[in-house]
Amino acid sequence: MAAQKKQKKSSGRGWKLTLLLFFVVIIGAGAALFTLDGRHVQFRLVGSSEITVPYGVEYVDPGRSAVTTGRLFGPGVRELPVETQGTVDTNTIGTYILTYSTEFLSTTYTARRVVHVADLTPPTITLQTVDGYEPSWFTGYEEEGFLAWDDIDGDVTALVQREDLGDRIEYRVTDKAGNEGLAVRELSAVAPPEIKLNGGENMTISARIEFEDPGFTAVDGSGNDLSEYVQVEGKVTPYRAGTYELVYSISNDSGDTVSVTRTVEVEPVEIPATVPPDEKTIYLTFDDGPGPYTEHLLDILAEYDVKATFFVTCLNPEYEDMIGRAYREGHTIAVHSASHNYYLIYASEQNFMNDFNETEEMIFRQTGEYTRLFRFPGGSSNTVSNFNPGIMSRLSSTMNDMGYQYFDWHVDSGDAGGTNTTPGVVANVTSGCAERRTSIVLQHDVKDYSVNAVEQIITWGLRNGYTFRALELDSPTAHHRIAN
Ligand code: ZN
Repeated sequence: MAAQKKQKKSSGRGWKLTLLLFFVVIIGAGAALFTLDGRHVQFRLVGSSEITVPYGVEYVDPGRSAVTTGRLFGPGVRELPVETQGTVDTNTIGTYILTYSTEFLSTTYTARRVVHVADLTPPTITLQTVDGYEPSWFTGYEEEGFLAWDDIDGDVTALVQREDLGDRIEYRVTDKAGNEGLAVRELSAVAPPEIKLNGGENMTISARIEFEDPGFTAVDGSGNDLSEYVQVEGKVTPYRAGTYELVYSISNDSGDTVSVTRTVEVEPVEIPATVPPDEKTIYLTFDDGPGPYTEHLLDILAEYDVKATFFVTCLNPEYEDMIGRAYREGHTIAVHSASHNYYLIYASEQNFMNDFNETEEMIFRQTGEYTRLFRFPGGSSNTVSNFNPGIMSRLSSTMNDMGYQYFDWHVDSGDAGGTNTTPGVVANVTSGCAERRTSIVLQHDVKDYSVNAVEQIITWGLRNGYTFRALELDSPTAHHRIAN
């Protein structure tokens, strides 16, 4: 019986032990399971753990969270509270570290995010414009200006690289962080200038008038006046009949050229057959030729369509054909002397007539005509014939009776003694003619410096309103006072 009681007491204490053991086993199993699972905190970062954000823009963390996780049972569902240490100052370039932390089972877990605040914005380039500016065809586009600004570097205008690509200009600038800014200015092609000629592209003027260019304008498609850049090629020779071309052109740096041609017709002066009473007249006369300079003289006279008179000799037979040319070109051919030997021709009337007729025959050979105009060698007032007293008086009378007309001169060029220079001849002739309404001028076409003066004499005369004529039978004779 006692053994049974003792057994009941011992079974009450066993229950307590069993309960204790139960808890120990449970806790031990939990701890074992926990250890076996390796449970710990897992951080989840939205975005990378190292990110770069733009300068000046408020930083917003992309997000983070923390949960527990283990090998066997995986992540839990309950988020742990996370604290953040550190800040990001986006107004200061630099690298910032944000530390995220949470507590779990008396252990502090942390994660980091590295945030770089950097200049990610390229500089901005502002293209300026100038009011009223239009690009010129001649000079091309002229820069109106630009500004470049970078948030970090400030004014970077000086660093701008400018590239002219013809139809556009590209402006580039790179900031210190390597960001490149680009601006493009589109250029529209400028239409080439139109050259307009005042007075038209075809002009006709009289050789009596010196050509004066009436001018021109050149305006490009933008309205720029480019007249000052126009080059004129060609020349209209004053008072010289002919057809002249003047080329007006303008070229730009790109090698484009625009040109317009003006044709100027210079018409020869119409000289009335009868001398008008108010006409200022110059009769150019040339003695002692033809000679080596006669051809050049005829060329000059032809260029200006001026007619002259040649008192010829037989002294240079190799140039005799110049008499024919002069005649065909409208000049007057008249007798001077075959030999021009004073002591021969003034020795007797017969000698004079023999010499005279020899010249007439040469003229006939060249022109098919005889002439009735002549000039005494030495002039009618010569005194070289004094060795035969009265010969000039007798000859002048006889020749007059035979129907011949002799001519002396009003203006002596001095080319037979007073001067041997072209300017001297020009001065003598122009000053002499300037004092007179009508002038017969004495020159010698066997003197080169005298022939070389003719062009200036002609242009002077035309500029001053003179008409040049060849002598005719009824022209003024300029008779000198016979001295023998
Ligand atoms: Zn002479």
